[in-house]
Amino acid sequence: MKVLKFGGTSLASPERIKLVAKTVQKHLKEDKTLVVFSAFGGVTNDLLKMADLASKEDLAYKELLVKNEKRHLEAVKELIPVQAQSSILSKVKTELNRLETLYEGVYLLNELSNKTRHVVSGFGEVLSSLIIAEYFKNLGVNSQYVDSRELIVCKNTNEKVQVNYQLTNAHIEKYFAEKDASLFIAPGFVSRNEQGVPSTLGRGGSDFTAALYGAALDVKEVLIYTDVNGMYTANPQIVPHAYPLKDISYQEAMELSHFGAKVLYPPTLQPLLDKQISIRIKNTFKPDEDGTLISRSSEKNFRWVTGITHIDSIKLLNIEGSGMVGIPGFSKRFFEVLFLENINVVLITQASSEHSICIAVKDDEAELAKEALDEAFEVEIQYKKIKPVEIEENVAIVALVGDRMKSHHGLSGKMFSALGNNNINIRAIAQGSSERNISAVIAKKDVKKALNTLHEQFFEVPSKELNLFITGVGNVGSKLLNQLKKQEKFLLENLRLKVRVHGLSNSRKMLFDENGIDLQNWEKALEKGEKADKAEFFKKVDSFNLRNSIFVDNTASAEISAWYKEYLANSVSVVTCNKIACADSFENYQELQNLAREYGASFLYETNVGAGLPIIDTLKNLVASGDRITKIQAVLSGSLNFVFNTYKAEEPFYKTVEKAMEEGYTEPDPKIDLSGVDVARKILILARESGQKMELEDIESEDFLSEESLATTNNEDFFELLKKDEPKFQEIYRSAEEKGEQLKYVAQLENGKAVVGLQSVDAQHPFYNLSGSDNIVLFFTERYPEQPLIVKGAGAGAEVTASGIFADVIRIGKK
Ligand code: ADP
Ligand code: ASP
Ligand code: MG
Repeated sequence: MKVLKFGGTSLASPERIKLVAKTVQKHLKEDKTLVVFSAFGGVTNDLLKMADLASKEDLAYKELLVKNEKRHLEAVKELIPVQAQSSILSKVKTELNRLETLYEGVYLLNELSNKTRHVVSGFGEVLSSLIIAEYFKNLGVNSQYVDSRELIVCKNTNEKVQVNYQLTNAHIEKYFAEKDASLFIAPGFVSRNEQGVPSTLGRGGSDFTAALYGAALDVKEVLIYTDVNGMYTANPQIVPHAYPLKDISYQEAMELSHFGAKVLYPPTLQPLLDKQISIRIKNTFKPDEDGTLISRSSEKNFRWVTGITHIDSIKLLNIEGSGMVGIPGFSKRFFEVLFLENINVVLITQASSEHSICIAVKDDEAELAKEALDEAFEVEIQYKKIKPVEIEENVAIVALVGDRMKSHHGLSGKMFSALGNNNINIRAIAQGSSERNISAVIAKKDVKKALNTLHEQFFEVPSKELNLFITGVGNVGSKLLNQLKKQEKFLLENLRLKVRVHGLSNSRKMLFDENGIDLQNWEKALEKGEKADKAEFFKKVDSFNLRNSIFVDNTASAEISAWYKEYLANSVSVVTCNKIACADSFENYQELQNLAREYGASFLYETNVGAGLPIIDTLKNLVASGDRITKIQAVLSGSLNFVFNTYKAEEPFYKTVEKAMEEGYTEPDPKIDLSGVDVARKILILARESGQKMELEDIESEDFLSEESLATTNNEDFFELLKKDEPKFQEIYRSAEEKGEQLKYVAQLENGKAVVGLQSVDAQHPFYNLSGSDNIVLFFTERYPEQPLIVKGAGAGAEVTASGIFADVIRIGKK
């Protein structure tokens, strides 16, 4: 005999049931088969919901009932030929009428007992199995419907399901000794109690039904068919990189399922353990995949950690006070109270000072536990020896599970530092004495991040995920997106970095995708995105709560740089080519640095000076290695350099500026470059990076533009005045040319003083041959007193700026 079970997800539609039938028929070719069926997907939830609605006198239960009636009747019509429908239709209708009567009773009495919940919730399995049994009959299979309610008996306990194995086994053995058929079809989940009242085996209990049949019939293996390829290293619905485990031990499976791997109902293994019957979990929709084998040992696959799970339906209870310290028997009393109330303690921790005990219990048992404990310790509470029990909500447990964890040290350290590095706060920690499980209590909102972080840490080829949120997709931003797309494979293969973009925004629209935006088609998708809003953008980044999140600013907007603090204070790194923040007040600059340090985020702005050239990085390294900067001399404006290298007085000056603008060598407002403000900001940043406390006002600027043109407020007016001032530009040009010199806009920092201005330099000067939009920086330091350390190269342009931002992103990845 074979025993199989198909879960609700495999039975969500008649098409799926037809697929299930194919698999069943394959098994039938090999042996007689018993198949346990769950309710059609979602039906049990509806049945319980209807009961709740009816008990609250909400007539909406009737609509839901009609919907479910329709669903079952349609399944009959879809699966069974018309001429053969009448008997099954009447059976189905009889069950539905019973159900309706029960709900009416609940509605009228305004009362929903636990017993009634058990009774109504089992109808889904009965209905699905009756229909499927009839379907097989009509396919010509010699089949028999087995009413599990007649065979499986539960003990009469308050809440917890306990099977009366003696009676159950006897019933099953007798039944199958007497009946003959090729295929037996039985509803899962349902049972009866010792008085004969219908009950169930608990949510998810159809797995257990299959195990009970399998054990009583002494089969070799029980097959559980579900909607995934087996038991995974983590819930594949939450952790995209999780993968199915080939084979695991009973203990590992038990621990994984107890700690939230819903794919297997925890008590399922109980009846199979003694007889060493194995379980195989397989995918209904991919029946050729091996799935997961659960058996006595998992010697073949050596691993320290088997899987990662979570439970999010818990609350923490905390009891503390001096009255607990050194009092023998306190814990005994504490746990006795919980035992008497039949409350299951999911996790326990006690500080070694014995000053507090912290436990996790199921959501719906927390209030009861608190009441019972507060009552039991009433006197101690009254005399302020201990405080009343505190309940903490919105928490979850994440757990690392593995048979061999006990013989390997350092795992918990790795686990907690991985969580800590991702800014996930740990509320409590516990390691089961079996050491098959290390659990941490964290905030519910962090579960997804924690599971993915731990999975990456323990199961994936070491690689790091970088999650980008990019604002500004113009010249620089679009180049950056291109580069990211191009380098995706290289980064993964060579640097083990997985870079994904989850958010994009320009000034009009924004776009988000938790799974990563397709970088091939981002432009169209962004056009269809929602209205851009800086506060909403931040909220979205915060709510995604992804590890290694990076906010990238490719704009020149002060409104955007005003948000950096929020990002950093939420452990989101900031990479920016926008100079405003770093060139703002020293206080602001310092606050950003401090926030980054405090919240473990990076704040990188290499492109603020010299686009992609490693200027700030070089300076930081000099300072960090103990060198002292004595002088910096630099040409820092790619735009001005381009302008003065191109301007030969043959074409008017304003045309040259226009050209620089078109080529992307200037800021959107070219006056920022031409006025020298941009250069002043850059030397200011270099001054600060070399350890000086300086403000923008401290920088002396020697203007070559007229005051009038500096005062303009739009590009049109500005260009008009440039046209007007042409003779002056010609004169500047000619006087340098006559001396055989070149015009360069130079920034200099020496003895705590910074100056920027136009200079003409002779042929011997290192600046003389600077071409195009190149930048050059000469660092004179204690180690480089005569021959400066020189960084030189293309210092402007969208492509190099984008690659500088890219380099900052990678710096974070390597951290
Ligand atoms: P069925 O209806 O077949 O009984 P369930 O919904 O009860 O299916 O269980 C299957 C689901 O269990 C999967 O779709 C998945 O979301 C969830 N799950 C949670 N943890 C794991 C895990 N470690 N491996 C596989 N599935 C898991
Ligand atoms: N249908 C029941 C439930 O949803 C039992 C099961 O699916 O295993 O809990
Ligand atoms: Mg299930």
